[in-house]
Formats: sequence, structure tokens, C-alpha cells
Amino acid sequence: MTEVDIAVVGGGIIGCLTARELLARRPGRRVAVLDRDSVGSGASRRSAGLHFPRGATGRVRGMAAYSQQYYAELTSGRPELPIHQVGMDVVGAEQAVRQSYLASARPTKATPGVWQVEGGQYADVAGLTGRLFTELRGAAVVHEGTGVDAIDLGADRITLGLSSGGELTTGQLVLAPGPWIAAPAWRELLAPLEVRVKKVVALHVDLVPGPTDRVIVFQAEDAFLLPLHDRGHWLFSYTCQEWGVDPDALGGEGLSDQDLGDALAVLRTLAPEYAAHCGSGRVFCDAYSGTGEPIVRPLPADPRVVFAGAANGSGYRLAPAIAAQAADLIDIPFPTAAGSPTRSHA
Ligand SMILES: Cc1cc2nc3c(=O)[nH]c(=O)nc-3n(C[C@H](O)[C@H](O)[C@H](O)COP(=O)(O)OP(=O)(O)OC[C@H]3O[C@@H](n4cnc5c(N)ncnc54)[C@H](O)[C@@H]3O)c2cc1C
Repeated sequence: MTEVDIAVVGGGIIGCLTARELLARRPGRRVAVLDRDSVGSGASRRSAGLHFPRGATGRVRGMAAYSQQYYAELTSGRPELPIHQVGMDVVGAEQAVRQSYLASARPTKATPGVWQVEGGQYADVAGLTGRLFTELRGAAVVHEGTGVDAIDLGADRITLGLSSGGELTTGQLVLAPGPWIAAPAWRELLAPLEVRVKKVVALHVDLVPGPTDRVIVFQAEDAFLLPLHDRGHWLFSYTCQEWGVDPDALGGEGLSDQDLGDALAVLRTLAPEYAAHCGSGRVFCDAYSGTGEPIVRPLPADPRVVFAGAANGSGYRLAPAIAAQAADLIDIPFPTAAGSPTRSHA
């Protein structure tokens, strides 16, 4: 039986950065990351990976600013990391843009109704996650192909039942399962958080971006056209409204006729010149909170267990801040396993 101080379940971008943060704060502690698949293969693999320097609430703007700074420091002097700076134009009303974008984005009027902002970047999220896990190995135990099938909240230790038949015991636990909110091991533990899972659809536009092409963000429609310079095509993301989906079912389904039709209908109203070049894309799902803000909090059933996720389609761009808040919660003292933590992030 493996014994660690902290187990992180889920090896997507959020689990990865949480493990990294925990070890950066206290290098000697024993951290294990468990993923039933390969790391970086859930929502992180399908992500468009766009960072907008914005947030609908003060908390999310703070998280966006923190994360932007984190990624800037991470990539400084490291061109091998797959994070790419990109120019960004926002189509929207002045008041809405000024309210939601960070002051550091310095919105500047380009043409009537179009604002240039600073600080946009996009990543190959799976590639980034994989590289960061390479750096973590040795300092952390990384178990891939290892599903967590059961959680036993014992008085002294938490025991995880693994798909391989073994067990792992830990003092504390971070659950970062992406859209697998309803996995049998934690479905009941997470029920009070009222997280929902929504389909996310993006079309691939078969047009090669020019070297200076910029992201076009449609503020009111919550959609964007992203020039994926590294992949040689554009991507159109819009807000799909299909709720209550199952990640295991979607993983193998691909884009449906309906997905394509719905996305094209939106694209034709926003940028019709791109619509004739779409026939493929990516479809998966993400976890959404009731407030529009990520959830990083100890579970009501046991404060030794911290949930980190439900980032509402922004799990890449907010992952560094989510990881820092999860590490804060792991590190706060709490009197007993049944006691209440002194701080919480709702
Ligand atoms: C098409 C698409 C486009 C997107 N575009 C953007 C964007 O432009 N910008 C942005 O910021 N965000 C975007 N997102 C959202 C972002 O990708 C997600 O919020 C983020 O990847 C979530 O990361 P995560 O680590 O929480 O989850 P995941 O990456 O899903 O990782 C969770 C991991 O948990 C593992 N797991 C599940 N069950 C178990 C179990 N029982 N035992 C062990 N392991 C388990 C899974 O195998 C998985 O690897 C997009 C998402 C999609 C689908």
C-alpha cells in the first residue's frame, strides 16, 4: 500500500498545477497524482487553451491577473513551453469591455465597437500539462492508468481504492476530476457543490492564419475566432447550451450534425466569411458552477478533501489561481478531521 501526505486525483491542467504548487511550497512532502487515463487527456486535451485577460466578477478578474502573471513567469526564457502570445481584438460595447477586462489589458479603440487588448495568449494545454508532469516526476509519484474507484474517509487516514486493485492512503486529498463529477467514488461527496456538466464545441476553420492575425473575441455572444498559428488553422468557439452530458459518452462521439449546424448558425451571423471553411472540430465538455466562478473549497463532508475545478470553460486560463487556492486550503491548519477550516473559497 502506497502512503503519501497529499493525493491529487486528476492529472489535467488543474491537478498538474496543484501538485506543482504543493511541492513548490514544501518540497519534501509526499505528493501523488492519480489519473485513470494518461495525464492531460481529459478536458485539457480538447481545450482551445485561450487566455483572455478578463473576468465577470472581481474574484475571477483577480484569478485571471494572477494566472496571467504565473504563465508569464513560467514561460520566461522557456520557448519550448507551448504557450503562444497572440494579439486580441474584442468586439463589444465600451462599458462591457472596460468593466470585464483587466486594467493591464489597456483596451484601446481600434475601430468603432472594436477594442485592442493586451495580454492574450493560447496554449496547447495537453502539451503543456505533459511537459510539466515530466518535471514533476521524481518529486511526485505520478500514477497513470490508475482510476480511483472508492474513497474511505477514515478517522486517521483517507484510503483510496484503485482500479489496479491496490490502495493508497493519504492525509489530505485534492479532487480535480474535470467533468467527471459523477464518478462513483465521489458523486455523493460532490453533490452539495451542485456542479453541472456542459458540452463544449469548437469548429476548426480550414484557413491558414497569417503571421499577424489576431484573436477576435465577440464579447456579448461569448464566442471567439482564434488563429492557431502552431496548428495552421483557425478555431471558432461558441457557447453550446447542452447540459447534463456524460464525459465518457462524449469522449468517443465526435462532432454531430447538430453540433456543426448549431455552431455554423452562430458563425454565419458573426463572421460569415469563415463559415464556408468549416467541417470539423472538437467536442467535449467541462464542469460548471452555479455562480460562474470556479469552485475551490473543502468538502462539507470532510475538510481534508479539497475540490478544485468547475471553472466554467476557463480551466486553462484560471488553473494557476485555482491551484494556489487549493494549496492554501491544504496548508491551513484545522483542528480535527471533523472540524471546520478557518478559510474557504466558495
Ligand atoms: C472544446 C473545449 C475548449 C475549451 N477552451 C478553453 C479555452 O479556450 N480556455 C480555457 O481556459 N479553458 C477552455 N476549456 C476548458 C478547459 O479545457 C478545462 O476547464 C480544463 O482543461 C479542466 O482541467 P481539469 O484539470 O479540471 O480537468 P481534466 O483536464 O478533464 O482532467 C481531469 C482528469 O481526471 C481524470 N479522472 C476522471 N475520473 C477519474 C478517476 N475515477 N480516477 C482517476 N482519475 C480520474 C481524467 O482522466 C482527467 O485526466 C475548453 C474545454 C473544451 C472541452
